[in-house]
Amino acid sequence: MSRLWRAAVCLVLGLACTARGGASRPREFAGERAFGYLSQQMQFGPRIPGTPGHERTGDWILAHLRATADTVAVQGFTHVTRRGATLHLRNFFARFRPAATDRVLMLAHWDTRPRADQSANLGQQRLPVPGANDGASGVALLLGLADVLKTKPPAVGVDLLFVDGEDYGNFATDSNDVLIGSRYFAGHTRRCSPCCSTWSRTRTSSSTTKATRRRSRRKWWTGCGGSPPTWATAEFSCPA
Ligand SMILES: [Zn+2]
Repeated sequence: MSRLWRAAVCLVLGLACTARGGASRPREFAGERAFGYLSQQMQFGPRIPGTPGHERTGDWILAHLRATADTVAVQGFTHVTRRGATLHLRNFFARFRPAATDRVLMLAHWDTRPRADQSANLGQQRLPVPGANDGASGVALLLGLADVLKTKPPAVGVDLLFVDGEDYGNFATDSNDVLIGSRYFAGHTRRCSPCCSTWSRTRTSSSTTKATRRRSRRKWWTGCGGSPPTWATAEFSCPA
């Protein structure tokens, strides 16, 4: 098992080990509190892109991450479906120890499916999926993990990614409208490298003015296909 995989398993399960192979005390994962995060999402209702429940849930996840992670970036983007609907989507990317070179990425989708079209119950097939397990449980786990990582910083860098628009379309017949957030993240993160290094150089020079740094950050972010961040999150996707 590689060092990174061992670290991932340890973090998720709270086992008594570290990324460097030594034993340590187990991390405390507050299961009941994490279950509360699941319940909260259910109270928001279905998290279908374009609905109030979706909007409120996204804001709530973002607030939690801003209160726990070292850096948080929002990747806002639009997606036009095969049927011509425009979806306004957000990926949330939270980082712990963003400068660490050894990193673990864990992700979950936070949207829910518009129709329970795979239900064995015909009456349910036109209804939204409530998403207790398919959506809320993964988010609750990662938010609980964020709590743990805030309390005790990890031995390696940890990235938590909450992707949007994953369960929207038809997985069987058309890949255009499914896994939207993951594909957007993967595609746009790779393209960030050249402009990212420009930003890093500017950021580290003590002689640059605040305005110069702001322009650089805007240029970097726009070059990556997203909107400029409104707070200091330019570490997003930068190599250490
Ligand atoms: Zn799903």
